[in-house]
Amino acid sequence: MTEKIKCDFNIKVNFKYASTIENPADYITRGLTIRIFKEKLSLWYEGPKWIKQEESSWCHRELGCLSKAQMERISAPVNYDAENEVAISEIKLENFSSLSKLISVTSLVFKFINRLRKREMDPKLQAKAYLIKTMQKQSLSRELDFLLDPRGKSMPKLVKNLNLFLDPKGIIRSKGRIGNSECHPYEIQNPILLGKEHYLTKLIIQEYHQRSQHLGLATTLNEIRLGGYWVPQAGQAIKNVVGTCMKCKKYNAVSFSVPNSTNLPAPRVNFVIYILVWILPVISMLKDKKEITKCIFFFLHV
Ligand SMILES: [Zn+2]
Repeated sequence: MTEKIKCDFNIKVNFKYASTIENPADYITRGLTIRIFKEKLSLWYEGPKWIKQEESSWCHRELGCLSKAQMERISAPVNYDAENEVAISEIKLENFSSLSKLISVTSLVFKFINRLRKREMDPKLQAKAYLIKTMQKQSLSRELDFLLDPRGKSMPKLVKNLNLFLDPKGIIRSKGRIGNSECHPYEIQNPILLGKEHYLTKLIIQEYHQRSQHLGLATTLNEIRLGGYWVPQAGQAIKNVVGTCMKCKKYNAVSFSVPNSTNLPAPRVNFVIYILVWILPVISMLKDKKEITKCIFFFLHV
């Protein structure tokens, strides 16, 4: 952050301590009533009185409230990604129980940023791309490093086996074998690779399991593929999610145990004898072809 301010405005940045009474930022972060806020509005707009005086008269108390790690974080240069242009790493995925909620909240952040930067972009698409890229950075760092710069690095297994590549947005995709298909869009032909143990993958599997109306493993996997995602060792990953689905547990539970199987009916296990003793004599008595056909169908349905 300090590097960015220094670069853009040529201002040297030093962080010092300001007491709560003199710090307008504390008004909002610590909360106060609208009446008190109105009373202190001048401080909010103009800052403390000493800020208009000579620099020598400013307060020089050090920031004792921040740890060394926090200070380093403030001083570290912000990674201004070409698309995201802001770090929103404070969004913790584990706090969200569904993919739709996570995307909604993340897209609100992007909506706010777009409004500040006066640009018109779809915040939902930005949110999805941001979340996928964050997941791939965390779960597929080796593959991502290789794809960004393969020089002097050994090719990871996944890159070779799944024929991975980076799309124009910097998302890792797998080049499948249906590139010539005219029935499938680009997203299905080249699915996005998901980290099998990442929390976002769990939310995506959960979402597609719900879309498939809580059908089994194969249908959920099919929905995920049609959604444009590829999960390595998908069977186990889907099993882990479906195994914890309360709706599936509820609907698949039976109120009593299934009774033991009994013997099959005699005609089904003695079919040859059945044909010789019953069907052939009856058929031989018939002369009309239609009646013979009807008769065969009747015996087959018994
Ligand atoms: Zn389910």
